Amino acid sequence: MSQKGLSTQSGAEGSARARYETVIGLEVHAQMLTRSKIFCGCSTRFGAEANTQICPICAAFPGVLPVLNREAVQMAIKTGLAIDGQVRLLSEFARKNYFYPDLPAGYQISQYELPIVEQGALWIDSPERGEGVRIGITRIHMEVDAGKSLHEGIYGASWVDLNRTGTPLMEIVSEPDLRSSGEAGEYLKKLRAIVRYLGVCDGNMEEGSFRCDANVSVRLHGDSVFGTRCELKNLNSIRNVMRAIDYEVERQIELLEEGGKVVQETRLWNADLNSSRPMRGKEDAHDYRYFPEPDLPPLRLTAERVAALREAMPELPDAKAARFGQQYQLSRYDAGVLTSSRELADYFEAVAAHAASLGHGNAKMAANWVTGELAARLNRDGVEIGQSPLQPWQLGKLVALIQQGTLSGKLAKEVFEIMCQEGGDPQQIAEQRGMRQVSDEGAIDVAIARVLASYPDDVAQYRAGKGKVMGFLVGQVMKATQGKANPALVNQRLLAKLAE
Ligand SMILES: [Zn+2]
Repeated sequence: MSQKGLSTQSGAEGSARARYETVIGLEVHAQMLTRSKIFCGCSTRFGAEANTQICPICAAFPGVLPVLNREAVQMAIKTGLAIDGQVRLLSEFARKNYFYPDLPAGYQISQYELPIVEQGALWIDSPERGEGVRIGITRIHMEVDAGKSLHEGIYGASWVDLNRTGTPLMEIVSEPDLRSSGEAGEYLKKLRAIVRYLGVCDGNMEEGSFRCDANVSVRLHGDSVFGTRCELKNLNSIRNVMRAIDYEVERQIELLEEGGKVVQETRLWNADLNSSRPMRGKEDAHDYRYFPEPDLPPLRLTAERVAALREAMPELPDAKAARFGQQYQLSRYDAGVLTSSRELADYFEAVAAHAASLGHGNAKMAANWVTGELAARLNRDGVEIGQSPLQPWQLGKLVALIQQGTLSGKLAKEVFEIMCQEGGDPQQIAEQRGMRQVSDEGAIDVAIARVLASYPDDVAQYRAGKGKVMGFLVGQVMKATQGKANPALVNQRLLAKLAE
């Protein structure tokens, strides 16, 4: 297929594109943060020397018996509750039979007909369909991860590292409710935030502890049956998931428009080439010869245990965002950004609380500093909020200094920079360097008089009804005072002078 065909969305191709609807379902494999593996006591620590965290059970010696990890079950239940799913009090493990060099048993222990969680959902803000779109989650089931084949080192040889074999996974399967790559991205961000809030998965896509496969098909708008889908694999970032979906949608539409047929298959995404290639024909479930796992009894939970876990659930992203909207009068957008991670939300609340403790409880301003200056700084340095150069009290005090009129926005940015580089108390920094906002009317009036004298044409334009000139004049007064003048006072005095 031509590059041109992929990138062009205008003209005839654009109108063909518009006749199709995209249908996407996502399967997410989330590695659970248990200390030991799902069926044995081996450590799950990442990065150990190859084959040092194995035992006869996870290495699948004959005659050994698996014992289910209680913590893994708790984590799956919590995730199920977080997505409003139904937690089954009776679930069952099954054998999924297939050969893979890093799967020594020749089968994967998974859940098939009776998964631990069914019928959940989460809500996303869709770029196309608006706020609060419901995306169904068909099921969550537990299963074991496989090991890793290594093809580097000695020429002509391959190695297998079984340290990861037996690590507990949750597979979270969505309904085919997503309609664009943008929605897929929002869904993944929300799901990742939830598992991180719960502490059940670190959500790291690059390291493979939160992996996503995408099932993509297209159909003409109004069709009641789904088109033939392809499964996309090797998607190691949200951005790659979105790019791979966009590519696949264009590929399928082009194929159909040329009179061809989409073949059900698994395709491997290549981020460097920005394209995908077929990996294998897609298996159906019956190819795996599933049957109930004979070495494990059915998993029975009590309603009390589930209720106790429900009681102990932390505040989750949607609930937190709703609370931020009410309690701090934040916009839906700001609340969404600030609750995207628990650490960021906690940080913001600490900043707002510190500013409030100094008598200046303008949380909106605290939010602006966290999502604006600070976020830009962290982004530039490629670090998370946990490595913020500023403690919440420093930013909280800075916000208070702005609100009480001691610092202008411009001076505050300078103090912010100094604090990031040298640390320190914002009030002391401002005092030591004479960075104090000028709220002295006399001094401001002098600056205004100078500006009005320098720009008689602009003054005349303003008086002739060109209100826009006001911004320019305020800017000149701020400049004349090296940005130290209190902007509110400048506005007020300038309006008074111009009205004379
Ligand atoms: Zn083991």
